[in-house]
Amino acid sequence: MTTESTARSTDQYTFQNPVTRFESIEPPAKSTSEPGLESELEPTADRGETSYRGTGRLTGRKALITGADSGIGSAVAIAYAREGADVVLSYLPEEEEDAQTVKGIIEAEGRKAICIPGDLKDPEYCVSLVQQAAEGLGGLDILVNNAGKQVAVESLEELTDEQLDHTFKTNIYSFFRVTKEALKHLGPGSTIINTTSIQAYEPSPTLVDYASTKAAINAFTKGLAQQLAPKGIRVNAVAPGPIWTPLQPSDGQPTEALPEFGKSTPLGRAGQPTEVAPAYVFLASPESSYVIGETLNVNGGMPTP
Ligand code: NAD
Ligand code: MG
Repeated sequence: MTTESTARSTDQYTFQNPVTRFESIEPPAKSTSEPGLESELEPTADRGETSYRGTGRLTGRKALITGADSGIGSAVAIAYAREGADVVLSYLPEEEEDAQTVKGIIEAEGRKAICIPGDLKDPEYCVSLVQQAAEGLGGLDILVNNAGKQVAVESLEELTDEQLDHTFKTNIYSFFRVTKEALKHLGPGSTIINTTSIQAYEPSPTLVDYASTKAAINAFTKGLAQQLAPKGIRVNAVAPGPIWTPLQPSDGQPTEALPEFGKSTPLGRAGQPTEVAPAYVFLASPESSYVIGETLNVNGGMPTP
């Protein structure tokens, strides 16, 4: 049943042309500092606020999502809530406003949304986040490691040791730390979904540190998937292509590249966060019971290995 807030004329099940489902955007050549805010994103993105329709595929599930305040993570949080799950939102303290917006959308569905801000570079937060999440939700059966840092740098000589350290701590160390703690709570039937990227196989010359962490996430996913499969815990990854989120105009791309963002894909346009969410729903749902160690590419048609 759709509630009044989710009733609409078109949703992800409407038969439509993927080329024109969303218009081709031309973002201004304007960069802000990271983390970017959804509330300041120009043009705005579609996170499924009025376009994602749930059908009960995650009824009663308990999900922890990192980077859930904005972009892809927020679209996943909205989709999970519409599918019937309660959600813990992890994000940086400076993103409180974005997180509150997502919390409001989830609560409008009658689902629980628990906000636990903190810095995933900090090993102690990685542990306390999981503990508080399991306590607040009364358990845990979906973990989405999605937080990420992406800052474009022209040359290796310009890549500071601080950025190298922060990119690896955020994008891959936190995946190890959060997942290790979550294993204390995840039982058979639980799922772990890691956000990797097309950058894992097609690294941009300006994203060498970021792309390296994304390749590591693919190996982490495929190795851990084999370790946990006998326990009934499935591990998979989603590899988005160019998706319009606050990550991109907050130094994620060279400023002059922003107007062309996503145009080189076979679909000819950037993807919207809500177009990525169904992949996370599928991988979290029991319907994907035989899908393990897989990387689901959601990238507008760019060839992948
Ligand atoms: P986003 O900026 O909306 O989300 C990233 C989130 O990561 C931030 O909102 C923030 O809450 C979180 N984060 C960053 N550093 C953190 C830290 N130190 N501690 C805690 N949280 C932190 O952008 P997005 O594009 O939705 O990114 C989500 C994921 O998707 C990232 O892993 C990104 O690498 C990946 N991705 C994005 C694209 C794209 O084109 N947008 C493509 C491929 C992969
Ligand atoms: Mg954010």
